[in-house]
Amino acid sequence: MRTHSRIRVDPIACDGRGLCAELLPELILLDDWGYPIIRDVDVPSELVREALEVVRVCPKLALRLEAIRQS
Ligand code: SF4
Repeated sequence: MRTHSRIRVDPIACDGRGLCAELLPELILLDDWGYPIIRDVDVPSELVREALEVVRVCPKLALRLEAIRQS
C-alpha cells in the first residue's frame, strides 16, 4: 500500500492573507482575491517538510495535510 499526501484548505477558516503561498509557492498559488489555490498534485517527498511547516504556521489553522492511501 502506498501513502501520499495532499494539502487541503478550509475556505471558511482561511482569511486570505497569503502566507502559505509565500512559503510554498511550488504548491500554493493565490487567486485574484488573495485566497489560496492548492495545486491538484501530491506533495512531492522533497516538499513534505515544507508542507508540514506551512500547515503549522497558518494563522487560521486552515490548512491540513491529508494522507491518501492507495493499494
Ligand atoms: S496561510 Fe492560512 S489563512 Fe493565510 S492564506 Fe494560507 S490558508 Fe489562508
